Amino acid sequence: MPSELFRLTVHEAARLLARREVSSTELTRAVLDRIEAVQGRLNAFVTVTAELALEQAREADERLTRGEGVTPLTGIPAAIKDVICTRGVRTTCGSRMLENFVPPYDATVIERLKAAGLVMVGKTNMDEFAMGSSGENSYFGPTRNPWDEERVPGGSSSGSAAAVAADACLYALGSDTGGSIRQPAALCGIVGLKPTYGRVSRYGLVAFASSLDQIGPMTKDVTDAALVLQAIAGHDPRDSTSAPVEVPDYAASLVPDLKGLRLGVPREYMGEGVEEGVRRAVEEAIDRLQELGAEVDREVSLPSTPYALACYYIIAPSEASANLARYDGVKYGYSYTEGASMWENMERTRQFGFGAEVKRRIMLGTYALSAGYYDAYYLKAQKVRTLIRREFEAAFQRCDALVTPVSPTPAFRLGEKVADPLQMYLSDVFTIPVNIAGLPSISVPCGFSQGLPVGLQVIGRPFDEPTILRVAYAYEQATDWHLRRAPL
Ligand code: GLN
Repeated sequence: MPSELFRLTVHEAARLLARREVSSTELTRAVLDRIEAVQGRLNAFVTVTAELALEQAREADERLTRGEGVTPLTGIPAAIKDVICTRGVRTTCGSRMLENFVPPYDATVIERLKAAGLVMVGKTNMDEFAMGSSGENSYFGPTRNPWDEERVPGGSSSGSAAAVAADACLYALGSDTGGSIRQPAALCGIVGLKPTYGRVSRYGLVAFASSLDQIGPMTKDVTDAALVLQAIAGHDPRDSTSAPVEVPDYAASLVPDLKGLRLGVPREYMGEGVEEGVRRAVEEAIDRLQELGAEVDREVSLPSTPYALACYYIIAPSEASANLARYDGVKYGYSYTEGASMWENMERTRQFGFGAEVKRRIMLGTYALSAGYYDAYYLKAQKVRTLIRREFEAAFQRCDALVTPVSPTPAFRLGEKVADPLQMYLSDVFTIPVNIAGLPSISVPCGFSQGLPVGLQVIGRPFDEPTILRVAYAYEQATDWHLRRAPL
């Protein structure tokens, strides 16, 4: 039995728990101690739910002892991004607006994890309403990167990524609208998977951009990503965009060779703007994939890639402006009540309740949707969205999966990009097109640049999570990047 239980992966811990060599209570205590040791430095959590975790661990131990209803996640300590509703536990979205919001219900993913034997150690820090790429847009202060505390962990699932990388939980849930699972996973040296749009229920996920949002696992290795996805995937009648598509056995796709697979490297993803160390790490990873039996196609092109960012920054803010209209200080959340009129109260509620980036998005979206500009912006962006989708479809006629960098650079310094939103937005150039097309994609560690982790992105056909898991797993098994731990 390892002396530092918090360092275990989900599958390692599950084996020890099933054999009763370790109890969930012991494991949970070890993780809670670890959180206490690193939270002051990283600020990965908004809320730590120690009491709840120990109670859930006790229940899990009973289940494990009886040997009934045991799943690979039973009794495993997890951290949940604070954008996912948890009954009785405040869910802030990293915003002053929801600082004291306690949801009266669980998100579907939480219901499912509870049925599987969830032990929730806390809710993780994030960019406000999931808008950001650095974790710096949180009302609760920035999260720091465990590899270098002067650097950002990426965002918006900043706390989830930092917590997994720092062994402050065994796995976490994140959400990804334009890269928010994959980019922080890459910057923190962990695995992050954004499922196909519709694969995982969004019921109880606080909406940012409803046509792009998706919940997914953030884990220490690919096997764990498959296990967590298995538990949360599937149709949900409470989310009309969730797909009635059968859920395959994801663990069955974890095979260590790639014979017969054709992988495309889209030309537009390896060009200008990719930092040298990132390029080198990704090129070496592609060579490795070839050695593992994959055929590599370098003639793939996705010509509309340069327009993806502009398209996203019309569509996502437009949807956000509609989704965030509900925060009016009347129904729930922060409420300013000192004004002379109802209108003043509503204005002040939104003035004080939202941070700068959220306001910027609401204004962008409201402008793009306004009567005189709708055709020029929103409608045009929807057309570009169709083009992007079609180009991916064409690429998947020739290839089974696409491989690219996740982020053009490794983790940047805290404060480096806050004054320049465009620079911040560029951090997601390679992840955003994937959300626009609704595809599944995984980020897996593939080396280091300037001593900081680099991620490889593997993009798949709709609902073909098995293939991206297979590619990521084979690569991971042939390398040891996922075994490197942050020097905390
Ligand atoms: N960084 C992107 C944004 O700010 C993506 C965020 C996300 O995926 N939630 O919109």
